[in-house]
This record gives sequence, C-alpha cells and structure tokens, in this order.
Amino acid sequence: MPEVKLYMKYDELLERAYKTLPKKPVVVKQRLTLPKPEVVVSGKRTFITNFNQICDILSRKPQIVLRYILKELGAPGVLHENMAVIQGEFSKKTIEAILDRFFKMYVVCPACKSPDTRLVKEKKFMFLICGACGAKSPVKPF
Ligand SMILES: [Zn+2]
Repeated sequence: MPEVKLYMKYDELLERAYKTLPKKPVVVKQRLTLPKPEVVVSGKRTFITNFNQICDILSRKPQIVLRYILKELGAPGVLHENMAVIQGEFSKKTIEAILDRFFKMYVVCPACKSPDTRLVKEKKFMFLICGACGAKSPVKPF
C-alpha cells in the first residue's frame, strides 16, 4: 500500500531529522543550591550565623549581601565575625525569601542561568556579568 510506505518514509525522514539536530551544547551545569540560612533571634536582634558561608557559596562579598538584606528589611545591621547581626526580630522565612531574591536577581545570569557571575557597579548602574556566556545584564541597583 503506497500510503503506508509514505508514512514509513515520513518516519524515516523524521528520524533522520532528529539525528542531524545539533546535540545539546555541552554545558557543565553548575548546580548551585542556595544554602539555608541559620537564623537565631535573640535580644531583639536577628543573627544569621552561617552568613559568611552563604556569601562564599554565592561568591559575593558579605558587605554587599548584607546591604541588600538591610535595604529589604529596612533595618540596620552589622557584620560580626561570620555572622550578620540585624537589629529587630525577623523570621528565618523572611531572611530566606530575601536571600532567594538576591540569588535570583544578583547571582544567576538571566541569559544562561549560570551562577558564575560577577556583580559590578558602574556609576549609578549595576550589572551582572556572566563568566559562562559573557552576558552583561543590567540589574536594579541597591
Ligand atoms: Zn550567562
């Protein structure tokens, strides 16, 4: 039956088309999971006890990450040893949400999703420069 043959041919063509499709680019997917903050509230202050560790993993200076958190919370705070000490009582959930936002906006490249990026400030502007794809993405300065 010619019709059947036609379908077979079509299948073959389809198969060939799939085979000639470029293979997925070999990108070493850097899986970076945001570490959970260890949050302790004591004496009307909030301590993120593993703060430096989080910043290390994100490859961001603790001062920068703290500045963002404080701006989001609208609260003062300081770095003390490996911790961030924030005035006021904030839940782990709140801190986690802010860190998550920071991670998505200021660490992950919007073009290729790589976390291999640098945050640079140029005058009033801030850019996320990707080490993987080279994209320079403007981000909201803080
Ligand atoms: Zn990129």
